[in-house]
Amino acid sequence: MKIAVCSAQSYDREFLLAANASFNHELVFFDVHLAEESVQLFTGFPVVCAFVNDVLNDSVLKTMAGHGLRLVALRCAGFNNVDIAAAAKYGIRVVRVPGYSPNSVAEHTLALMLTLNRKTHRAFNRTRDGNFSLEGLMGFELHGRTVGIIGTGRIGQAVAQILAGFGCRLLAYDVSQNDQCKALGVNYVELAELYRESDIITLHCPLNQQTHHLIDAIALSQMKRGVMLINTSRGGVVDASAVVAALKSGHIGHLGLDVYEQEGDLFFHDLSDQVIQDDVFQRLLTFPNVLITGHQGFFTREAMSNIAQTTLQNISRFEEAGQCQNEVTVELINSKPQ
Ligand code: NAD
Repeated sequence: MKIAVCSAQSYDREFLLAANASFNHELVFFDVHLAEESVQLFTGFPVVCAFVNDVLNDSVLKTMAGHGLRLVALRCAGFNNVDIAAAAKYGIRVVRVPGYSPNSVAEHTLALMLTLNRKTHRAFNRTRDGNFSLEGLMGFELHGRTVGIIGTGRIGQAVAQILAGFGCRLLAYDVSQNDQCKALGVNYVELAELYRESDIITLHCPLNQQTHHLIDAIALSQMKRGVMLINTSRGGVVDASAVVAALKSGHIGHLGLDVYEQEGDLFFHDLSDQVIQDDVFQRLLTFPNVLITGHQGFFTREAMSNIAQTTLQNISRFEEAGQCQNEVTVELINSKPQ
């Protein structure tokens, strides 16, 4: 099928073109985001292949439906950037790539925790400058610490598995419990207890109406002073302004972010010659105990290969059978907690 690939970076081209050798779709790459301002670029394609920061709201979907769009093939797991009800209204089907490589995101989560704790990023700079002082580099042992995991689906479970190996005490909150996590020793508790007890809190739930700004000033006030907070899920789960206040007061001891609510204007681009206008983001970057990565949790060779393969397979299944097991529908969203 003829597919418009939005927000295409060099690595998207590399992995999609390699996988397409066995599918033979017609891929047309665009390096711009899909949004209301750019929608005209993407019209005339029956399939659009979108990523995390492409905006597929009612208006965009309406315009594209009017020009023959039939399928949105997300090359990511989350679908918070697509108005699924609007897609259904305009007869557009939506498919995604669930669980392409939970270990990629889980391992990046651990990279954030370990870097923040043992300050290897600061040591790297110091030793290259001939500074071998240990002042300010003291960390703590993960062994025996309590980690609260919010969302124990595929990624949360992979994180639990790694942390169990570190000898952590594991608490979790989820709207549905995972037996494999329980087998790892994870103890499901209410959010208030998780906030109260945890030395580290890591977020692995999707962004939806229930989780938008789940971590706000009230939630932060219930956490231990000095807590380490890690977010590799979606930026909107955290109220970044509340987090800035908690960092200034010292209530948050460490913050690791791979996602940010307004990341659509920032991430995946080299803005090193530009003045960044987002004051909250810029303030976050000034704290010594904050580590931000630009939505790279998924970014491993294994995940990129799985994403490309499944994305093109989803499109082929849709073309051949008119349906696909990775479809996201309003019924599916309403039938189980997301
Ligand atoms: P998943 O669907 O396997 O698991 C999500 C879990 O969250 C489920 O167990 C679900 O019951 C739970 N959940 C739903 N609503 C909740 C709520 N209100 N409170 C607590 N838990 C709730 O998804 P996954 O593959 O583990 O991915 C999790 C999220 O990670 C995705 O939604 C996506 O936003 C994010 N993600 C980020 C990256 C990255 O590169 N940083 C890559 C992939 C996915």
